Amino acid sequence: MPELPEVETTRRHLAPVLEGATIVSAEVRRPRMVRRHERPGDFADRVLGRRVDRVGRHGKFLLTGLEGDITWVTHLGMSGRMSVNRPGDPEAPHTNVVIRLDSGSEVRMVDPRTFGFVAAFTPEELARTLVGRIGPDAYESLPTSRRLGDSLARRTAPIKALLLDQRVVSGLGNIYVDEILHRARLRPDRPAGSLDQTEVKRLRAAIGPVLSAGIRDGGTSLDDLAYLLPDGRTGEYTARLRAYGREGEQCRRCGGVIVRSTIRARSSYWCPGCQA
Ligand SMILES: [Zn+2]
Repeated sequence: MPELPEVETTRRHLAPVLEGATIVSAEVRRPRMVRRHERPGDFADRVLGRRVDRVGRHGKFLLTGLEGDITWVTHLGMSGRMSVNRPGDPEAPHTNVVIRLDSGSEVRMVDPRTFGFVAAFTPEELARTLVGRIGPDAYESLPTSRRLGDSLARRTAPIKALLLDQRVVSGLGNIYVDEILHRARLRPDRPAGSLDQTEVKRLRAAIGPVLSAGIRDGGTSLDDLAYLLPDGRTGEYTARLRAYGREGEQCRRCGGVIVRSTIRARSSYWCPGCQA
């Protein structure tokens, strides 16, 4: 599933294409992609003819600000990706949304499993349905250690589950949480409230470098190639993963063996040799 580094990489590719351009058509081929609207036609009606001011992001949501205070929200769900094309470029299967710009470029959303969505929201709708309900962005506005510690204190849930909870910090998913916990030398199943101050600091300190490295490498493309950069390339962070997907392989820090365990129904990869 695309996480913060994949969505931020996507944002950085889309911004120069979209910003300043005007949307001249919006084609939604699967009504499920606009299920956040009462009527499927609302999305196209609201974005058509508007100029794009700015492509932003909060957690895993792409937030494209349009003139007239409408935000085009994109969530890539489990398997979505965006691509930038010229008209007539061959289409990938499962191209479910096509946005055409006055510049001639097309922004396409490909989503085989259709867990992703697009929506066009007023500020009130945005606050009520999404952004008002998720926590600070894990990259742009990471909470202080003290605030992070307060969110974890007395919680008995595994630390991994709380990091995946978008209300604590937003943007992290299964891959990067495993990488962050490996870097912080913390077991994913530790009760969140059992972390002492030093451990919370270590955890916080691990988040920025892992996300920055993920963004620098264009994110992580797994074997299914569900996630690709908008120009069609693969994310190269895959080669740098230290925990995720490495069951039975040697730990690059301590030489131990990475194991996989299931925590709250999610596969978790970690090293019993150096994560305590
Ligand atoms: Zn290790």
